[in-house]
Amino acid sequence: MRSQLNFEELKASGNLPSPAGVAMTLFQLTQKPDVSLAEIARIVQADPALSGKLIKYANHIKAGSRLVASIPDALNLLGMAATRQIALGFSVLNSNRRGACKQFDYMRFWSRSLACAIIAQMICEKTRVAQPEECFIGALLSDVGSLALATLYPAAYSEILSKELAGKEKIELERSSFATDHLELTSALLQDWMLPELFSNVALYMENPDSMPFAEKSREFRLCKVWNFASRFADGFVSGERRIASKMPEFLVEAREFGFDQDEFAFLCDQAAASWQKWSAILDVPSRPVPSFEELMASIPAEEPRVGLLTGRSLRILLFAEEGEIAGFLSSLGHAVINVKSEQEASRLVLEADPQVVLYSYSMHGIAFVEALRKLPAGQSIYAIMLLDDEDLQGEVDAFEAGADDCITLSRGLELLAARLLAAGRFVEMKESLSKDTEELRSMASDLAVANRRAREASMTDPLSGLPNRRYAVERLALEWNRPGELACMMIDVDRFKMINDRHGHDVGDKVIRHCAEVLKKAARGQDVICRFGGEEFLAILPGANMEAAEHCAERLRTAVESSLFSEGNAPIKITASIGVSVRYPSMGGFPDLVKAADVALYSAKQAGRNVVRIAQRPE
Ligand code: GH3
Ligand code: MG
Ligand code: MG
Repeated sequence: MRSQLNFEELKASGNLPSPAGVAMTLFQLTQKPDVSLAEIARIVQADPALSGKLIKYANHIKAGSRLVASIPDALNLLGMAATRQIALGFSVLNSNRRGACKQFDYMRFWSRSLACAIIAQMICEKTRVAQPEECFIGALLSDVGSLALATLYPAAYSEILSKELAGKEKIELERSSFATDHLELTSALLQDWMLPELFSNVALYMENPDSMPFAEKSREFRLCKVWNFASRFADGFVSGERRIASKMPEFLVEAREFGFDQDEFAFLCDQAAASWQKWSAILDVPSRPVPSFEELMASIPAEEPRVGLLTGRSLRILLFAEEGEIAGFLSSLGHAVINVKSEQEASRLVLEADPQVVLYSYSMHGIAFVEALRKLPAGQSIYAIMLLDDEDLQGEVDAFEAGADDCITLSRGLELLAARLLAAGRFVEMKESLSKDTEELRSMASDLAVANRRAREASMTDPLSGLPNRRYAVERLALEWNRPGELACMMIDVDRFKMINDRHGHDVGDKVIRHCAEVLKKAARGQDVICRFGGEEFLAILPGANMEAAEHCAERLRTAVESSLFSEGNAPIKITASIGVSVRYPSMGGFPDLVKAADVALYSAKQAGRNVVRIAQRPE
């Protein structure tokens, strides 16, 4: 709009990027009010490549449900407007894969634009700030003005690109050279292609949302943020792992503003990367592997060091200071910078973004924030650096008194900041190695506890049967003895075991012990404890059981042993056991009396001919 006249002149030159062939026909046709979908389908089908891409696109957005297999199906699903836009986008891409501008990397341009489109579309699916399919094409073409400059002025633009400028400086040079800039051209082209007005408005400000005139929360405002984010995130995709990883903390924080929590954002990252691979293959533009969200978060590396400046380890820095060159300077040193604007936001992000260093402008915000930071548990060990604009002795004293770790006078040069961050890096490293040591100690202690528990368990287990052993039985009896309520125990002894040993050998005897252990354990109630007390003797502890319950249980155990099948080779061996049962009486002095009573009852069971249960007599 701002340069309508100029744009018409440029358009007349015939050198602007534009849709070609079938897409152009389609583009013109869909401007007629009475055109039918059938008519459009006929035209699209004349271009097999475009047809294929449209069908793939329709399937892409339909994800999961019935497969779209024909152009009419695809058109029905996408609708007239989206079909036109997609045809437009793909056609502009297809006819501008290469060109005469030497410094303009056409393939990288499309690769980046595609990533931007995919990311913007995915964000719109959640925020609904624009229709997602429209947003895809809008974002795909959101930097088409740069392409236009490359097509219009290949040599001059090549020269500008070789200066590697960005932001305002680049715009200014473009304006002084061409009387327009890439943002304005993008906006004019989107308007000319009759994409939604929202897009052409937003395109003007998407590189610098802080300058946009839109009301907060308006659609323009929100879409501008989405495109700006998608564009920077796409830069990361194209530039590779190191770059994108260093920006992850920042992206994570921004994604929250669009309503993505960490898991949702992780999903978005991974999905967007996968879509980018898929779409780059379909549209025949390059892409590169993007590590998973988890891998990215795990590797937050340093960027290429700036020559001549000291760089230490890459730090996560929360910057609460006037907007200026500091953020860019820190990024260029390889640090991940989280910019905050208010004290409230700063306090929130101390908790959420886990910064290692806080840089804080004393000149702007005084000492209150550092005082508040030191009161937060998470803020106590963050390395806090106060930034002073100019020499200020009182300021420095105040800063340290309030809890700052360092103080830097910016007027002495940013090199000093770079150097002092080395100290911060050493502090962070020490802190990490300390917490690693603590962690190791903790893990050693817990290993030791586990080993102790295992050893204790082993010392309480009978290796032959796997049952708790006599030592355990005694400890457990002592424990149960001190609990209120009923308590019973039984002594179980395998009958004529010596004979089994003598006839079949000691090994078979061992097998019989194991067999009995299993049978007894299976037949006992869950709360009862069966222990191997010695030789072929087992002790059962029955918490809460009175005489009747205990006798009942003993009978069940006896029957279980009697009816169990044991054989050696093919010869069955009959196994029985005798059981003596006792219950606690108030007159008993301690648990040995209980065991003794069961032993006496066992003796009378043996006397009675074996394979029977006998109850201990009530003591006098
Ligand atoms: P009763 O019916 O009177 O209990 O007859 P018994 O033969 O079972 O009686 P006794 O207690 O005299 O015999 C137990 C035998 O168990 C004696 C010992 O050699 C054997 N024995 C003890 N511990 C083990 C063991 O761990 N494995 C094997 N195979 N035999 C054992
Ligand atoms: Mg015995
Ligand atoms: Mg025996």
